[in-house]
Amino acid sequence: MNEYDSELLTDQLLSAGWQRIKHPDDADLIIYNTCSVREKAEARVLAHIMESAALKRQNPDMKLAVIGCMAERVGKNLLEFCPQVDFILGPDFAFRLPELINNGFKNGAVFIASEENEFLIITPESASPTAPRGISAFVAISRGCENYCSYCIVPYVRGPLRNRKVSDILNEVHQLASNGVKEITLLGQNVNSYSDGNIDFADLLALVSEIDRIVRIRFTTSHPKDVSEKLFRTMADTPQVCENLHLPMQSGSDRILKLMNRGYNFGQYRDSIDIARKIIPELCLTTDLIVGFPTETEDDFQKTLDAITEIEFDAAFMFRYSNRPGTAAEKIEDSLTDQIRIERLNRLIDHQQRLAKKNNQRLVGKQVEVLVDGVSKRNKSEFKGKDRGGRTVILPDSYGIAIGDIINVRITKADSWTLFGDNL
Ligand code: SAH
Ligand code: SF4
Repeated sequence: MNEYDSELLTDQLLSAGWQRIKHPDDADLIIYNTCSVREKAEARVLAHIMESAALKRQNPDMKLAVIGCMAERVGKNLLEFCPQVDFILGPDFAFRLPELINNGFKNGAVFIASEENEFLIITPESASPTAPRGISAFVAISRGCENYCSYCIVPYVRGPLRNRKVSDILNEVHQLASNGVKEITLLGQNVNSYSDGNIDFADLLALVSEIDRIVRIRFTTSHPKDVSEKLFRTMADTPQVCENLHLPMQSGSDRILKLMNRGYNFGQYRDSIDIARKIIPELCLTTDLIVGFPTETEDDFQKTLDAITEIEFDAAFMFRYSNRPGTAAEKIEDSLTDQIRIERLNRLIDHQQRLAKKNNQRLVGKQVEVLVDGVSKRNKSEFKGKDRGGRTVILPDSYGIAIGDIINVRITKADSWTLFGDNL
């Protein structure tokens, strides 16, 4: 979502006459779009903000903006750490930045939703993407979240759920398609709770699939309590929608899931996966897991290990619980040490990687469809792309391939997430 917001703001700044430059030393404006989901992300960006603040000593006219979730959460207290910051704008005020600069605002302008101010919140309802996006682009279908999972800061910093209008979403996708985009990822904190009148998320997927030149559609994030058989059937019946479901499980322990306020238990989660896999046999299933939630016992943790063994996820994003101020989980008495959390996280990562590597071996020898999206990071003479499941595929034979091509590839080797193939 932050990447998408950064793209929209870049569009606005480019149309206002700004230019992107390579090196921060030469910048007239530096913007940090921040994440508050975990403490580590905040600490890391703060260190970078301090570095940029030091640059202002050499170039006092340079402007420094901190936007997004940490700006909303920390507000004007950020000025105590770093008085050099000119703009502190919460997620819904970030799009006011070009206007604020034009109006001559500088030095500690703070616009956040949790404080009264004279500026109205704006979210780019009818965004019109102008700068090139390449082959793949994001499109938000909603903003905010009101699920209040007990560990999560998102509802506090991004506000309540607001669905965009179907017409605005479709217009944005049309515009991207006419700029050469082939793959769309629809974004929301919980896409399955989308609605506009009587159009639900599955209907929206079908409508996006009617847009010419969009050959692949993905979406994230789905919430296990809201997925439906209708969604799985739409995925199966709509060729453009990829066989790719990111369904965060968070924990395999019912006791912890309840404390997390997730609204499902492991049995219900497993039942949804069984239905999804029956309807979409080629489904690539990914998840998010948190270890060390307050009061998690060795037995609770073992349930998460057992759950991932049983479900066989194709990939998982695994996180150590991070205490977020103001959340309900913050109030739960917590006797777990960092050391226990780190040790459990390492065990979880080891276990998942072994499972995923083993699981991926079934793809060796198979043919997959790859959308070529760039050159390999490790070897610039190799192309890379994604299969329909979302796995990265490295293509050693670059002869006759161009970015944006859809090609059929035979998989020759697989590790835990990356596949290696020969084009056919
Ligand atoms: N709306 C999405 C994304 C939320 S943030 C969803 O519900 O999945 C992405 C992931 O970060 C979450 O799924 C969760 O696994 C992780 N996360 C959120 N808050 C966290 C916290 N306080 N500590 C550790 N991980 C957290
Ligand atoms: Fe956070 Fe839960 Fe909302 Fe996801 S669904 S953003 S984890 S509150």
